[in-house]
Amino acid sequence: MNDTNKQEPNTSKVIPAIAKLNKAGFLVIIITNQSAINRGLMSTQELVEIHMRMLTEIEKGGASVDAIYYCPHAPDEGCDCRKPKVGMFNQVNGDYMIDYPNSWFVGDFESDREVAEKVGLKFILAKGDGGLRKAVDIILK
Ligand SMILES: [Zn+2]
Repeated sequence: MNDTNKQEPNTSKVIPAIAKLNKAGFLVIIITNQSAINRGLMSTQELVEIHMRMLTEIEKGGASVDAIYYCPHAPDEGCDCRKPKVGMFNQVNGDYMIDYPNSWFVGDFESDREVAEKVGLKFILAKGDGGLRKAVDIILK
């Protein structure tokens, strides 16, 4: 996921795909740019509430997400965490000690590929509603 507006994410289509990853023993971590916060379009509290509702929805569907990392900064702030910078990926690695060469980054932007290459993750470009489902099929093949 990348920058979102206030629109609620539609989780219903991705839940079965996430459940497959859970079942296969993968950690599922969301890493997202949310510049709407520092641009003053959304409060941190609102974002946290959206994330909580999303996680609840996913859990109701029988799947789970292990963590969500977000960058609140606007592009012109020059932070280290906004993708395609690797700050959040380094943070995840510090928190979970993930084996990046044997892990996957599913991104919906071509610039996500750059991040994957920098940190040594395998990459799948996934677009649209069926994107994650197809990506998970590739991962579990
Ligand atoms: Zn940032």
